[in-house]
Amino acid sequence: MTSYRQEQLDGYRLVLDHLDTLGAEERQALQKAISPYLDFRKRASEFLDTHFAGVCTQACYDNQRSACCSKDGIVTFFADIVVNALVSDPVSMEKIMARLGQQPHEGFKCIYLGPRGCLWQVKPLVCEMFLCDPALSEVFGSRSDLNTEWEALQQEKKRFSWPDRPVLFDHLEAVFIEAGLNSSLMYLHNSPGLLRVKRLAGLYDPTVGRQ
Ligand code: SF4
Repeated sequence: MTSYRQEQLDGYRLVLDHLDTLGAEERQALQKAISPYLDFRKRASEFLDTHFAGVCTQACYDNQRSACCSKDGIVTFFADIVVNALVSDPVSMEKIMARLGQQPHEGFKCIYLGPRGCLWQVKPLVCEMFLCDPALSEVFGSRSDLNTEWEALQQEKKRFSWPDRPVLFDHLEAVFIEAGLNSSLMYLHNSPGLLRVKRLAGLYDPTVGRQ
């Protein structure tokens, strides 16, 4: 098993095991916390479906040319896993865990790519918000209004994931850290670059350590 897949598997196990221990109130608190993010993701998804589905299906999926879903290449945040686990039914989770545990994975595409598309119910944020340059120029070429709308969604994304202010992705990691859990996917608590962003925003003091 690749280190990438092991890391994903460990992350999912940790999240699922901990969610299983939570009472109804704690789980509801998490559901409430992610609700504005799910609303954002719904609007982003609708925008992409409306304006890019045709372009992307023809250019990448039909021709097997896609570089978006490449093997072991996709960055997943810890919060991506928490959100997906919270919104998924047990069958969907079993499919993901079975795929991660499958031996060997010979394909050249992402481990999460199933025959009917991505196995995630709410796919990782970087996947959702990635558009290649040819698609961007084809759709936005004569539609600056759509470009403006997409830029607004990109800015909104930061309000959940870019820690120059208190953000959901940081909060979800903190919830698990407070429970004594740790994952290498907790980038908002591990990544030097993101810790620097937090430090500059006054949200992290390296002399105190993890916050
Ligand atoms: S997680 Fe899903 S959308 Fe992202 S690269 Fe993998 S299959 Fe594609």
